[in-house]
Amino acid sequence: MEIAVIGGGLAGVEAARQVTRLGGNAVLYEMRPVVTTPAHRSGLLGELVCSNSLKSTDLTNAHGLLKEEMRILGSIVIETAEQTAIPGGKALVVDRERFALGLTDSIESDPRVRIVRREATAIPEGTVIIASGPLTSDRLANAIIQLTHAGNLFFYDAISPIVDAESVDRDKSFYASRWSRDGTGDYLNCPLSREEYDTFYDALIAAEQIELKDFEGAAYFEGCLPVEVLAERGKKTLAFGPMKPVGLVDPRDGRRPYAVVQLRKETASGNMLNLVGFQTRMKYPEQERVFRMIPALRNAVFLRYGSIHRNTYVNAPLCLNGKLQLKSDERIFLAGQISGVEGYMESALMGLMAGISACLTARGGDFVPPPPTTCSGALIRYLTTETRNFQPMNINFGLLEGYSKKTKEASVERCLEDIRGWKRQMGLEKNTPSC
Ligand SMILES: Cc1cc2nc3c(=O)[nH]c(=O)nc-3n(C[C@H](O)[C@H](O)[C@H](O)COP(=O)(O)OP(=O)(O)OC[C@H]3O[C@@H](n4cnc5c(N)ncnc54)[C@H](O)[C@@H]3O)c2cc1C
Repeated sequence: MEIAVIGGGLAGVEAARQVTRLGGNAVLYEMRPVVTTPAHRSGLLGELVCSNSLKSTDLTNAHGLLKEEMRILGSIVIETAEQTAIPGGKALVVDRERFALGLTDSIESDPRVRIVRREATAIPEGTVIIASGPLTSDRLANAIIQLTHAGNLFFYDAISPIVDAESVDRDKSFYASRWSRDGTGDYLNCPLSREEYDTFYDALIAAEQIELKDFEGAAYFEGCLPVEVLAERGKKTLAFGPMKPVGLVDPRDGRRPYAVVQLRKETASGNMLNLVGFQTRMKYPEQERVFRMIPALRNAVFLRYGSIHRNTYVNAPLCLNGKLQLKSDERIFLAGQISGVEGYMESALMGLMAGISACLTARGGDFVPPPPTTCSGALIRYLTTETRNFQPMNINFGLLEGYSKKTKEASVERCLEDIRGWKRQMGLEKNTPSC
């Protein structure tokens, strides 16, 4: 059994490794160094395009827990990262070049992998894993559009921050939809007085932003402008835009607030709330500092930060099933950032999952996603749950079923127990030589 993997980034190497570990052969298409992307600098597999930090290793942090799951499942990215780690406190920080060299050596010396150094401009025959990343080449993107239908492949993301619902001050916020009068509604509204708005505005205008990359110059669409760009258009633009208070009455004083930040449920349980219309390029610590000036968010815990960058990804809930197959063509699997996750490790994890899924499926077996009590299962559930406005997601505890801060240790233990159980259930304990 031979499986084609398009893209030799973090997801592609994970996918290829899982395919060969399960006894299959992989043909890995990587276009670099023949054709390059605007962010990569070398022809090495698994090159990190920006930070060399793979984030926390602490098990009580969702990023740390995700890494532990990947270690349990035999991740080549984790193994190589640990071999090339440099001191980074509680974060797994790698020597960038040794890390990519290590992954390249490991894949190049795998007799079951054939590396083809050219741009895939069409989807090959047979079982295929597409792991071409946020900077997928244009010709391949066009081929993916044919399969996912127009409008379901995006080229930029404009992400608003998400906060932990429990961390929002309920004495300083109120539930209402615009024009509803009964204190119920879909939005948790965070009102600001004129003075509070002015202070917030001044901080927003002055906040440090992440610099645009050369190739990201004209990334903005009018409908999803960064909040700071809107603010630069005039002091009242936000009060008439995403912070407009029309149709809202603050039950504390029966009056319309000067401005309002609306929080919308991101999950059915309502444990994660999205700041509606607050897509931003502010640096992460600046997002915490500035958004905490909104009175109800003074102690907000941020589960996801806002961002806007060049990113190729599918409308996962419409395009993917739980096996990470395209609904429109089940011989094709998606892995990595293009599947709708955000971040190095999340991308690698989706490569690992797609590799296992493609292999088991190709040999007539059955792949079921890990339970949603695990990071892997929770991310796949996020990708495959229909939502109004799908946006890429990084791992955070808000996604895990049954997770509770009060019983954090038990939730972590359960997660690891469940991923081990899933590994046994899928028959991944031993290498299976007949993929
Ligand atoms: C500029 C930028 C900075 C980022 N910084 C961070 C960060 O600091 N931390 C973080 O956690 N996440 C970051 N991300 C997000 C994301 O986690 C990384 O991009 C991650 O590398 C995605 O992994 P991937 O395997 O999906 O894609 P990639 O690692 O990009 O791998 C995709 C591979 O596919 C190849 N390819 C593309 N098209 C074709 C084709 N047609 N044929 C053959 N090969 C092809 C590419 O050359 C590339 O090697 C960043 C993203 C971008 C765009």
